[in-house]
Amino acid sequence: MLNADLHCHSRVSDGTLSPSEVAQVAFEAGVDLWALTDHDEIGGQREARAAAEALGMRYVSGVEISITWANRTVHIVGLNIDPGNPTLIDGLAATRGGRAARAQQMSEQLAAAGIPGAYEGALRFVGNPDLISRTHFARFLVEIGQCASVSDVFAKYLSEGRPGYVAHRWATLEDSVKWIRGAGGIAVVAHPGRYKFTPLEFGALFDQFRDLGGEAIEVVTGSHTPEQYREYADVARQYGFLASRGSDFHGPTESRALLGKLPALPDDLTPVWSRWQ
Ligand code: AMP
Ligand code: MN
Ligand code: MN
Ligand code: MN
Repeated sequence: MLNADLHCHSRVSDGTLSPSEVAQVAFEAGVDLWALTDHDEIGGQREARAAAEALGMRYVSGVEISITWANRTVHIVGLNIDPGNPTLIDGLAATRGGRAARAQQMSEQLAAAGIPGAYEGALRFVGNPDLISRTHFARFLVEIGQCASVSDVFAKYLSEGRPGYVAHRWATLEDSVKWIRGAGGIAVVAHPGRYKFTPLEFGALFDQFRDLGGEAIEVVTGSHTPEQYREYADVARQYGFLASRGSDFHGPTESRALLGKLPALPDDLTPVWSRWQ
């Protein structure tokens, strides 16, 4: 099997390593085909591709776009995009646009909950000033000893309904798929098992995604349990989606899965990378 890992993050969004360092980790893990998919940002693509090619590892350009669908945040990965596409570049810039104000609001709410200075604290973990994320706040709260781990911070402070949570409107599903397709890429529903939708809502999401020209879903990801691998393999079969595989690696100490170490996709599914072979 080709060891493809088509979902991970660098310091250009909320990962802890530079794109070149992530390339090195992927290479050492035996990854044959790699994509860096930073949140709402393609500023790391040139470095990632150069590092991969210097190591003799195949590279696919990638991005993970934050969207709002049915009042919830969903992530759409774009693979094999042209990182120079002006519409994609503008769309991502607009998507990133509200992050600074959102972060200020999060900081005010955390201060009201007894944790002052979170904006400045989070900023110290930010690699790209244009992309301040909840993950950076989580690292700050761990640093000051407020919580034991990043996932603990999300559970106590940063998830919907918690004191530091700020509702935010991201891009639309339609725009995300349009930008990705317009840049020559394939749109992929990221980690579907993470969304708290009813079966009816999931059906509507997959129908709309397919009707808009979305072509793939993540089946094997660091965010899924083995049972969810089976569940979303069935969705891929039912909708005729291509299947993707990616760790969602954010760094050596915080990730649910290591790069390139996930199980293979079920044999009967068509891998998304069949498009580039
Ligand atoms: P943001 O784009 O600022 O809303 O931050 C979203 C990021 O937070 C995701 O990409 C994950 O890296 C991280 N995240 C979300 N939920 C959790 C969780 N429960 N545990 C750890 N990290 C999380
Ligand atoms: Mn992330
Ligand atoms: Mn995601
Ligand atoms: Mn991700």
